[in-house]
Amino acid sequence: MELQECKGIAVTPGKPNSARVQSVPVASLGEGELMLRVLEVGICGTDEEINAGLYGAPPAGTDYLIPGHESLTEVVEIGRGVTDWVPGDLAVPIVRRPCPEFCPACARGRWDMCLTGDYRERGISGLQGMLREYMTDRADFVVRVPKTLRDCAVLVEPLSIVEKAVGETLQLQHRSPVPPQRALVTGAGPIGLLAALLLRSRGLEVHVLDRRPKDSTKARIAVAAGAIYIDDSETTLEDATKGMTFDLAVEASGYAPLLFRALSKLGRNAALVLTGVTAGHHALTIDVDLVNQELVLENQLLVGSVNAARHHYTAAVADIARWKKRYRGLLPQLITSRHPLDRFTDALQKSPDGIKPVVEVAQA
Ligand SMILES: [Zn+2]
Ligand SMILES: [Zn+2]
Repeated sequence: MELQECKGIAVTPGKPNSARVQSVPVASLGEGELMLRVLEVGICGTDEEINAGLYGAPPAGTDYLIPGHESLTEVVEIGRGVTDWVPGDLAVPIVRRPCPEFCPACARGRWDMCLTGDYRERGISGLQGMLREYMTDRADFVVRVPKTLRDCAVLVEPLSIVEKAVGETLQLQHRSPVPPQRALVTGAGPIGLLAALLLRSRGLEVHVLDRRPKDSTKARIAVAAGAIYIDDSETTLEDATKGMTFDLAVEASGYAPLLFRALSKLGRNAALVLTGVTAGHHALTIDVDLVNQELVLENQLLVGSVNAARHHYTAAVADIARWKKRYRGLLPQLITSRHPLDRFTDALQKSPDGIKPVVEVAQA
């Protein structure tokens, strides 16, 4: 392929609403690399913050950042030394890359647990992202996806976050003599709904909380996943679950005050995992002695979790394949709007029932 430039989205980090369509260079294919045609890119709050000028850093020597980190791509060309890929394979590039110091965590493939904080992330900081027609990447930082998952594999990256957060918390809960049975998920966005699916498929009773009515898309998907849905604006969590405690809770709303409400609904030996970075500075009066007492006297565990390692991506691919069979047609329903590359900023517009907006980079 002799392409030197292609169409992409560029933002100027630090400058609000700077997203524009522009021509971006296509690197020549190096040894051990794949040439990828970008098919779809999922959009999330991180992309919104990058375009709002609140977050993001361009690669060294460049003044713009190509956003987009939740992607599905197709292999179009194979670099020298790559043996296990063929053109036409579907691939999801990993977002985070090891720090240059190659700290002990990064050296063990756990860049998600990087000790220096100098890691780079595609489309977020230090590395160009996927909102462009073509890109090259190292074959060892790309995860293979079966072609049968074409319609929902753009969810692999957000699910990798859930595989780590929920999967590791379930592992941590092996400390409890009784396996967790009942779970609470606060927030029915993509992370919350994927967490509900994961917990259901691990056999837990799942309650999902949001502030949308029972006939909303979010509520419908939660129920179709086998969860019990609570509309917190109609019946509060506290009323809907009176006399009930949870063995595991996942905070996926990104609204910090909710974490304390979830905490107060935890039972003995239970765990709460936080997945959302909360915006703003909400002040709350908390009886910290009570929080301390409950955590100690009830053996409770509070976990924070970010990003994902390679094995979380492969677990996500395996679960998506399983759920596609088990919940026919459900996963594509999480994709609530589709936008062409030229209209990327439309995908940033929030709608109350929107779950996952997707940019279709390659028009079918
Ligand atoms: Zn994201
Ligand atoms: Zn590191």
